[in-house]
Amino acid sequence: MHCPFCSATDTKVIDSRLVAEGHQVRRRRECTQCHERFTTFEGAELVMPRVIKRDGSRQPFDEEKLRGGILRAAEKRPVSIDSIEDAINKIKSALRATGEREVTSEMIGNLMMEQLIELDKVAYIRFASVYRAFEDVSEFGEAIAKLQKK
Ligand SMILES: [Zn+2]
Repeated sequence: MHCPFCSATDTKVIDSRLVAEGHQVRRRRECTQCHERFTTFEGAELVMPRVIKRDGSRQPFDEEKLRGGILRAAEKRPVSIDSIEDAINKIKSALRATGEREVTSEMIGNLMMEQLIELDKVAYIRFASVYRAFEDVSEFGEAIAKLQKK
């Protein structure tokens, strides 16, 4: 790929390692012209099922939306970007593993909660409280009780 600094066409890979549990390759590159260094991530692009929204409309799967939701829930929490990327990969694997061409947005929400509960309990509660729009305090209490059992 072209150098993002000077647009030279030749860059060399100076380091390469697997990240996100082997689902991505992280490469450190150096421009042969200006010698600036930058990082690229490479991952397989696999077809994701489409998403059925609550109102029945269909949308393409949007990884950025998923990432945005998790990042918002985990804001200012001790959760690393690597572990968030792992969680996203697990959710995507689970969705592909269904073998379905369409999945409900509810299923994605549930998978996100499963991952968040492992990542950070506060992030989980934040997400769950928005996602499920808790109708009353007792429901919120149930979610917390479920956490304490784990
Ligand atoms: Zn350059």
